[in-house]
Amino acid sequence: EKTSVTLLGLGAMGTALARTWLAAGHPLTVWNRTPARAAALAAEGARVADSAAEAVASNTLVVVCLLDDTSVDEVLAGIDLSGRDLVNLTTSTPAQARARAEWAHERGARYLDGGIMAVPPMIGVPEAGGYVFYSGSRELFERHREPLAIPAGTTYVGEDAGFAALHDLALLSAMYGMFAGVAHAFALIRKEDIDPVVLAPLLADWLVAMAPTVHQTAEQLRSGDYTKGVVSNLAMQVAGTPTFLSTAEQQGVSPELLGPYFELMRRRLAQGSGEEDLTGVIDLLVH
Ligand code: NDP
Repeated sequence: EKTSVTLLGLGAMGTALARTWLAAGHPLTVWNRTPARAAALAAEGARVADSAAEAVASNTLVVVCLLDDTSVDEVLAGIDLSGRDLVNLTTSTPAQARARAEWAHERGARYLDGGIMAVPPMIGVPEAGGYVFYSGSRELFERHREPLAIPAGTTYVGEDAGFAALHDLALLSAMYGMFAGVAHAFALIRKEDIDPVVLAPLLADWLVAMAPTVHQTAEQLRSGDYTKGVVSNLAMQVAGTPTFLSTAEQQGVSPELLGPYFELMRRRLAQGSGEEDLTGVIDLLVH
């Protein structure tokens, strides 16, 4: 007997999730503010509830995938959640997730928060490597492990309901840093006779080659010794920054993405940390 699932929210992500449960044979009840979005799923076997309240009343496991925390508030306002296993996959801040957990507990529900590390085309495609960070009730996570694992992989990161969001945002923040570096790299060649399509695989391979440095950074943070295993120390790297800034200027490229990072490196060096790795920059960021 497969667990019956209720899903609130049939946007791009909700619809992708829904299809995987239907394909796996889980009875599915769906609700969406704009009913038209449920029509295709109804044809694929989903039961369409007339209201969010009816959808919530239909099953113990209630998955929510709405735009943001405000929409979760609006949709669930006044609905009886007692005895429900609420799994909220709506992107939120850690503080919002913690508050939502409290809110759910006050209403007699168990709560699990999720942060989706995938885009809709990766849902239901195990080889795409997408997964969902979960935090909050471990009991709820264990109980629904099977249905939760159908759309994507699952990674449980702790009882603190805010941790899924925090992990999600940490990874995405690193991604934006990478995008910033890539933007600068492409900008440097923009006016030259260099094919971006030829540069792209070189860039991708370089980023992959550099990615394992995060392990050394983590070891240094754990031990507190930022000089351990240093290959290119901060003094040497700061000495190199004028080369990057001059090159940017010569290529007519703004330093506004790289500049702030270089400034932090200089500030850390000024504290007498020339023999360290770049890890000390992290401490400058934390207030
Ligand atoms: P969409 O914009 O495609 O869908 C938004 C959904 O929220 C729709 O079902 C919409 O209903 C509903 N909604 C918005 N506001 C309200 C409201 N006030 N009351 C009721 N329903 C409301 O977003 P996605 O499906 O892509 O994203 C859903 C969640 O998944 C978001 O939190 C997003 O951050 C997260 N996510 C999305 C990813 C992606 O790549 N798409 C990746 C990782 C996470 P209606 O149809 O009526 O407008």
